[in-house]
Amino acid sequence: MNKSISRILMFATALVLIAACGQVLITGRKQMLLFSQGEITSLSDQAYTEIMGQAKLSDDYNNIRMIREVGHNITSAVDRYVRENGAEAALEGISWKFDLVESDQVNAFCLPNGNIVFYEGIMPITNTPDLVAVVMGHEIAHALAKHGNERMSQEVLVGAVGQAISAYIGTEDQKKQAIFQVAYGLGSQLGVMLPYSRKHEYEADRLGLIIMAMAGYDINVAPGFWDRMSAGKNSAPMEFFSTHPSDANRIKNIMAVLPEAAKYAPAK
Ligand SMILES: [Zn+2]
Repeated sequence: MNKSISRILMFATALVLIAACGQVLITGRKQMLLFSQGEITSLSDQAYTEIMGQAKLSDDYNNIRMIREVGHNITSAVDRYVRENGAEAALEGISWKFDLVESDQVNAFCLPNGNIVFYEGIMPITNTPDLVAVVMGHEIAHALAKHGNERMSQEVLVGAVGQAISAYIGTEDQKKQAIFQVAYGLGSQLGVMLPYSRKHEYEADRLGLIIMAMAGYDINVAPGFWDRMSAGKNSAPMEFFSTHPSDANRIKNIMAVLPEAAKYAPAK
């Protein structure tokens, strides 16, 4: 390649990286985000409409009430924290909503626009408000930390999935949608399930425990929950745990961040 062209390319890449540098709420980790929150929110809105168009809302009112109450308490605590710390930008493009879907799937997720969906199949293992808060705190943490945007950005730059998708003949919008679905673990429709990286799982655990503590839930139930759900301890297919893999190291990490998270609990 011609020297001046490669210099221009390097310069352009550097500009993109500078422009795209973000910082995770509370953990302060620097990250590269190549997509705007506006793009991510509109892709999330499309995904939500598509998923809910094929889903049936649950009529299990006790569980619906529990999910809404835990969701309201956690997100109110997050909103309050963000306001008090001048970090409102973290909630740009997010408006919280909580649904319970009638399905045997052991699954729950939070889209980056704040749409949180639980499946009935996960309720037998999240059968108390504290256990719902473990899963919901973790899912909301992935959204607050913009892990999906970061994954999409990495895929576009270096990932095999990104390369496969850019080779695929389709409109730019279709390609973006495909990367979005893979990055957010919604790829089961595409036959690709990409588990969150260890780094993102640990960060979502830490942030999830902190926001759970802020809302007054018992963070000490978390290690036992992830331990029961760690690899090899259950035989049924559990969608949630294939995108959020758990093992002994992860549980050690959770134990290590409990004292930090406890400091965020409201004074009694
Ligand atoms: Zn996770």
